[in-house]
Amino acid sequence: MLPFPLPGPFDYAVPDSLGTLAPGDVVLVPLGRREEVGVVWDPQDAPPPAPDPGGAADPVPAPPRPVADTRLKPVSALLDVPRMPHGLRRFVDWVAGYTLTPPGLVMAMALRINAAAPLPPALGWVRSGSNSSAARETPARKRVLAALADGMPRGTAELARLAEVGSGVVRGMAEAGLLREVPIPAAAPFGIPDPDHPGAELAPDQAVAADALASRVQARRFSVTLLDGVTGSGKTETYLEAVAACLREGRQALVLLPEIALSAQWMQRFVRRFGVEPAVWHSDLGSKTRRRTWRAVAGGEAPVVVGARSALFLPFPDLGLVIVDEEHETAFKQEDGVLYHARDMAVVRARMSNAPAVLASATPSLETLTNVENGRYRHLVLPGRHGGARMPAVAAIDMREAPPERGRFLSPVLIDAVRDTIGRGEQAMLFLNRRGYAPLTLCRACGHRIQCPNCTAWLVEHRARRQLACHHCGHTEAVPPNCPSCNAEGSLVPIGPGVERITEEATALFPEARLLVMASDTLPGPTATAEAVRRISEREVDLVIGTQIVAKGWHFPGLTLVGVVDADLGLAGGDLRAAERTVQLLHQVAGRAGRAEMPGRVLLQTYTPEHPVMRALVDGDFAAFMQREAAQRRPGHWPPFGRLAALIVSADSADAADSTALALGRAAPSGEGIQVLGPAPAPLAILRGRHRRRLLLRTRRDIAVQPILRAWLDTVSPARTARIDVDVDPVSF
Ligand code: ADP
Ligand code: ZN
Repeated sequence: MLPFPLPGPFDYAVPDSLGTLAPGDVVLVPLGRREEVGVVWDPQDAPPPAPDPGGAADPVPAPPRPVADTRLKPVSALLDVPRMPHGLRRFVDWVAGYTLTPPGLVMAMALRINAAAPLPPALGWVRSGSNSSAARETPARKRVLAALADGMPRGTAELARLAEVGSGVVRGMAEAGLLREVPIPAAAPFGIPDPDHPGAELAPDQAVAADALASRVQARRFSVTLLDGVTGSGKTETYLEAVAACLREGRQALVLLPEIALSAQWMQRFVRRFGVEPAVWHSDLGSKTRRRTWRAVAGGEAPVVVGARSALFLPFPDLGLVIVDEEHETAFKQEDGVLYHARDMAVVRARMSNAPAVLASATPSLETLTNVENGRYRHLVLPGRHGGARMPAVAAIDMREAPPERGRFLSPVLIDAVRDTIGRGEQAMLFLNRRGYAPLTLCRACGHRIQCPNCTAWLVEHRARRQLACHHCGHTEAVPPNCPSCNAEGSLVPIGPGVERITEEATALFPEARLLVMASDTLPGPTATAEAVRRISEREVDLVIGTQIVAKGWHFPGLTLVGVVDADLGLAGGDLRAAERTVQLLHQVAGRAGRAEMPGRVLLQTYTPEHPVMRALVDGDFAAFMQREAAQRRPGHWPPFGRLAALIVSADSADAADSTALALGRAAPSGEGIQVLGPAPAPLAILRGRHRRRLLLRTRRDIAVQPILRAWLDTVSPARTARIDVDVDPVSF
C-alpha cells in the first residue's frame, strides 16, 4: 500500500535477499522512476469483517484488486521501522471504505512517512582523551571543555549554547583533536505513568462511575460508555481512573481531546494523578518528537497518549482504552484531506482493539444520546459539580428592552454586572465568538460591502493590523481609504463587533480594569495561551475578552461572571445543527463561571430570549432541549435518525461546476428511503476561487450510503477542472 490516491495496493516481488516479508512491514519500493515508502498490505481477496461503530457504519467492500504485472518489480529494501500493527491496517481499510477515500491516503496518515523514516543516530561531543597539548587554549575553548566536564556527550548546537561560543569554535576543537564524537545514549523516551501514584480522592458518585469504567477496561471487550456530567463534575478525574485501570492491565490508553484543549492545565492534572506526563500527539509536533513518539507508541514504551484526532492513526500494538473528551466538539471532524469524524472513528478503533471507548461531555451530541437511548451505548452520569459547587445562574438580557447606547454593543445591564464584579475584586469574562474588529465594512454612500476576491464572504476588519482579512481563505488587504466601488472619501464604516471592538469598548468603560484578550490570533501558540491562562488563574487580570478559545475546559477560580456578547450569533444560517451547537458552546462558556466557594453568574445578550436555545441555557434543561431537537429531526430522517452524505462539486468556473452538479443530479439514486437534495450552491458558493455546488444524499438509517455513493459516482465523469468531494456524515449542512 503506497501513500497515494491509488485504488488499492500494488504487487511487488520479494527478492531472496529480503527473505520473507510479513503484512505491516515498512518497505521501499520502486514506483515509476522513484523509490517510495510503502507498507506490506494484507491479501485483498479476504476483506476484513467490517465492524459497526455503534451503528454509524456499513459493510466495506474490498477495494478493486489491481491487475498483477507479469514481471513484478522487486521490493528494494525493508526499512528498520516498527511493523504497522494488524489492528491499525484493518482500521485504515475501514476508514477508507467508510469515507470513500483511496486507502493509500488514509494509510499515509497512519504511516506518517516522516515519522517512519529511520532515526539518524544522535551524535555528541566528549573531551578527547588524546593528548593534544599542541592545540591552542583560548577562553572560549576552556568554556567548551568545562561544559563537557560531566562526561555527558552534547550535540554541537547544545554545546555551543552551553559554552556561549559559536559553533565554529566547537568544529575547530574537533579538528584540533580536542573533541571526539560519540553516539548520545537514547534517553528513556517517556516516563511510565504510575497507576498507584496518589491522586485526588474521588467523591462517592465519581467512585461509582470510575469503578464501572475500570471493570469495562478489565473486561478487555468492546463497549461504549457515555460519561455525562456538567462542567466541573469531575469527568476528567473519573476517566483518569479508567486510564489507571488500563495501565494495570498492561495495555495502552489513548485520550483524544479537541486540539485546542490540549492544554498545560490538562497536563498538570495528568501529572498530579500519574506522576509523569503522557506522550502527546498533535499536528504541531516537530519532526523529531513525532518520530520518537511514533516509535514509542509502536514499541509500547508510551503507555498513554493524549492527542488530537490524528492520534487515532498511531501504531498501538495493544490499545486497551480510548477516551474522547468533549465528544460533542465539531473540531473532531477533519474538514480537509480525509473527511472523518474522530469521535466515530475512535469507536471503530476501540472495537477493532477489543477495548472500551468512553465518550465524555457535559453536553453530549444528539448522535451519542440517541445511541444511549437505543441501548448501544451505556450511560454514566455524574450528577453535580464536585464539592457541592453550584452551577452558575444563567439569565438572558433582552436586548430589545435594555439596548446598548448608539454605536455600542454592551447592554447597560451587562456593563453594571461587570463593574460590580470587578469592584468586588472578582474576575469577569466577555465572550464573543468572532475574531477581529468588525465582520463587515460597508460604504455609507453607496452601500458597497467589501468582499473577499476569492470567496463568497465578507472581509473582516482587523484594526490593530490595519487589515481586512478573509477568515476562509486567508486573503488579506490593507483597509482602503476610499470606497472601492464609488470612491467616496471616509464613507467606509465597520458594522458589527468582533473581540477587538469589544475590547475597545471595554477599555473605555472600565479604564482601571486589567484586560486580557484571548483569541487564536492574539495568542500565537500553546506557550502564549498557557501564559494567558496562568495570568488569569493568578488574578493578574480583571476582565477577559475572548473567542471560543476561552470556552475550553479551563478552571479559573476567581471568575464569577461570564457575559455572552451575542448569544444569537451561531443561530443564523440554515444549518440543521446550529441550535445544538450553540447550546453546547454557550454551556461550555457558561461553565467557566463560578467554582467551589464562589457561585457564578452568566448573562446572555440576546434579541430572542424566547428561543429554545436561550430557554435551555436559562433553565439549565439540556435534556428537554435535546428531546425537542430529536423530535424535529426524526420525522425527516435527518441525522442521527437517518444517514446523510454531501457531494461537493468544485470547479474553476461556475459553468464547469454547474454541468458536473447537474450531471450528478440527473444520475441521482432513487428508491424507497433514499432521497437526493440539490444540486444547490454550497454554503460557501465560492471558496478560494473555486465555484462550489452541493448535493445531499439522505437515506433511512438501515440503508448504507457507501454502495449507493460508489455506484452514483461511477456514472458521472466530472467536467475538466471539476472535482467531486464526498463527505459522509457532514457536520454542517
Ligand atoms: P469536568 O471534566 O467534569 O469538567 P473536572 O474533572 O475537570 O470536571 O473537575 C472539575 C474540578 O474539580 C477540577 O478542578 C478538579 O480538579 C476538581 N475535582 C473533581 N473531582 C475531584 C476530587 N474527587 N477531588 C478533588 N478535586 C476534584
Ligand atoms: Zn477568501
